[in-house]
Amino acid sequence: MKNNDLMDKIVSLCKRRGFIFQSSEIYGGLGSTWDYGPLGSELKRNVKNAWWKSVVHNRDDIVGLDASILMHPKTWEASGHVEGFNDILVDCKKCKGRFRQDHLKGKCPSCGENDFTEGRAFNLMMSTNLGAMEDSSSKVFFRPETAQGIFVNFQNVIDSTSRKLPFGIAQTGKSFRNEVTAGNFTFRMREFEQMEVEYFVTPQEAEKCHEKWIEERFQWYVDLGIKKENLQLREHGSDELAHYAKRCCDVEYNFPFGWSELEGIANRADFDLKQHSKFSGNDLRYQDKITNERFFPYVIEPSGGVDRATLAFLVDAYHEEEVEGKIRVVLKLNKKLVPRYIAILPLLKKNDDIVNMAKNIKSDLQKDFVCVYDDTAAIGKLYRRQDEVGTPYCLTVDVQSLEDKQVTIRDRDTIIKKEFLSKI
Ligand code: ATP
Repeated sequence: MKNNDLMDKIVSLCKRRGFIFQSSEIYGGLGSTWDYGPLGSELKRNVKNAWWKSVVHNRDDIVGLDASILMHPKTWEASGHVEGFNDILVDCKKCKGRFRQDHLKGKCPSCGENDFTEGRAFNLMMSTNLGAMEDSSSKVFFRPETAQGIFVNFQNVIDSTSRKLPFGIAQTGKSFRNEVTAGNFTFRMREFEQMEVEYFVTPQEAEKCHEKWIEERFQWYVDLGIKKENLQLREHGSDELAHYAKRCCDVEYNFPFGWSELEGIANRADFDLKQHSKFSGNDLRYQDKITNERFFPYVIEPSGGVDRATLAFLVDAYHEEEVEGKIRVVLKLNKKLVPRYIAILPLLKKNDDIVNMAKNIKSDLQKDFVCVYDDTAAIGKLYRRQDEVGTPYCLTVDVQSLEDKQVTIRDRDTIIKKEFLSKI
């Protein structure tokens, strides 16, 4: 299958089956904003839950946080975003390289051509006004990353949890960037969701700890079913490192539009806590309880995108197979991520006894599993519908079930059907 075809098929499946819709579609849509439908919202929630379980619940050294989207404007001066996101940028029309206009001396530093687009003020941060007055003193930003909400709460978390180094703070939440080069479905959005850990360590432990996080984050995607050959690590060159970062390594996925970043794992050194100490006047140094030494910890930051991860899981799960001369589309999503775990399908929707038995089975199973009941088509069509949205098991109730209490369970991946005794 050609890569463009695959992307088109995924976009169309997402709309048809209720995973992802264009935002405000009835008004013609809004650029690079997307809405998650009935199944997409379940999938995305499962992605976040799997992440939260792996970085918070399954560990002893990380706690969660849910900070505000709107923060004191000084936060973004301290973090470098006010200054760093206000450059005038131009694109080289030949090699597509992007440069700060004030850094250019005539020719393109990468290909030597002298043909640029018009300069554009590239303020990635979006803003609004707080309160009734619309003057500059009330201007606040929509956060462009969740990380800063963690740094400004560093002391609160230490004081309320008595944490000792090394420890981390995790958070998921919306971020906003006024992306200029938008596109590729949910890969690059203007409103998106991040999942970030800020892991605080002594400067001496930072490099080793960074290595460990790179391995662990790569493995998280593999454990949730992404094929290893579709993942790679990419080290940032010194020219692309953010001003604060000592080292950064991306986990990339082989999307139909090429290898692209899923998550960046950076060693931010002690930049953020130092900056917030300077700008807020609060000393955010960590105090070692035994030696009483005070110092700024280093920070290792695994920073992933919920939407990009969700898209990668969808792309990787998409399969077309020939079954009895027909193409079967199946989403082989990991069972921890599937929007629905079991579909309960009565074979005859006009037979009240079958329908009652099926509904009773559903109300029993839904205590432990996300289930769906569907009797709106013939069984073949119902199976295909569930395959397309990745439901691992279809349970059917037929006339025989009324007598022997046996139901049929069909496995999504093997399409093998087996009889099971029902309690109902
Ligand atoms: P890119 O180079 O693709 O713009 P970035 O390096 O600016 O990404 P980070 O600032 O490292 O991204 O943000 C961390 C993570 O947040 C990214 O790895 C990505 O998963 C997610 N992310 C960032 N920008 C967007 C966006 N516009 N839409 C969706 N997800 C995003």
